[in-house]
Amino acid sequence: MVQPFIYKALPTRVIFGRGKREAVKAEADALGLKRPLVVTGKQQSAQGAELAAKHGWPHWDGAKMHTPVEVTEAALIYYKSAGADGVIAVGGGSSIGLGKAIGLRTDCPQLCLPTSYAGSEMTNILGETAAGAKTTKRDAKIQPETVIYDADLVGSLPAAMAATSGMNAIAHAVEGLYAVDGNPIISLMAEEGIAALAAALPAGDTDKALYGAWLCGTVLGSVSMALHHKLCHVLGGTFNLPHAETHTVVLPHAVAYNAPAAPVAMMRIMKALGAKSAAGGLYDLAKKLTAPTSLKELGMPEDGLDKAADMAVAAPYPNPRALERAALRQLFQNAYDGRRPAE
Ligand code: NAD
Repeated sequence: MVQPFIYKALPTRVIFGRGKREAVKAEADALGLKRPLVVTGKQQSAQGAELAAKHGWPHWDGAKMHTPVEVTEAALIYYKSAGADGVIAVGGGSSIGLGKAIGLRTDCPQLCLPTSYAGSEMTNILGETAAGAKTTKRDAKIQPETVIYDADLVGSLPAAMAATSGMNAIAHAVEGLYAVDGNPIISLMAEEGIAALAAALPAGDTDKALYGAWLCGTVLGSVSMALHHKLCHVLGGTFNLPHAETHTVVLPHAVAYNAPAAPVAMMRIMKALGAKSAAGGLYDLAKKLTAPTSLKELGMPEDGLDKAADMAVAAPYPNPRALERAALRQLFQNAYDGRRPAE
């Protein structure tokens, strides 16, 4: 029997292909942009400056991790003084986050050129920080209008960052497979996204990895995330652990926790990974990529594990398996120690 479902396609226009960054002017024109603001972080500053200079567009290179509101406010002042009418975000989740924050406040069109596998460009979600506290919003104005995926832009990612950014993307697809509001199209995309990334990351195939990242980002933008994302939010927000690395470490353990309650999702993850266990296969993939596998090595204090378990059960959210404090405390211990989940 086919389970009842609701499916709604994302409105974002996607252009995929090596060299397609050259289409940025035509795509900006198609959005009606005369003077888009190119936004980047400091690391992508030269790239943004070159693009801006080529087309006579203004450039702002102040994007920072976790989209601090004061950075957005400074960027908005520049956006207005430069007479900008849209944004072109070049970079990872931080640059794209700033573009989305400007989009939310001005309702201007956004065009993204992602340089990592994080997937933010495909979602209507914006995480912002004000006075150290992170809040997350969903709004149609946040969803970028156009995304150009060009593998030449991710080639410069150092191997360690490519690994954790790719595992971060896989986490979106994994949770999409057991999402409370999942649907058959999204499950197809999720399985294909995991398979593409699991094959491409060890081989250094940036084109295929970016294809996988697009699929995984689409999953994130389409359905609700569950336990794994909640745990990473707790660890990132309370213990200030790095985003992509935390996802990489926690994912096999969150999957092991949910495995008994989501057998169909587990089968699909195993198939995508070509592994005998979903959780074990994800752990092995992280190891193969020499990515971190323990919270200890990320700087998590061991005496924070109790607090993390308390926070994980504090505000209930949909998840295939009920939230059990003792089992979650054990999950955190396993992740802290970097143990391979049992088959
Ligand atoms: P990031 O943009 O901060 O990039 C991490 C580092 O990698 C930065 O120093 C950046 O300069 C560098 N970098 C990026 N691309 C590079 C490249 N091609 N070559 C060399 N260096 C490069 O972070 P990220 O990992 O891309 O994304 C994570 C952030 O995005 C987090 O803040 C997360 O919360 C957010 N995010 C948001 C959503 C959403 O839907 N709102 C989805 C996923 C991630």
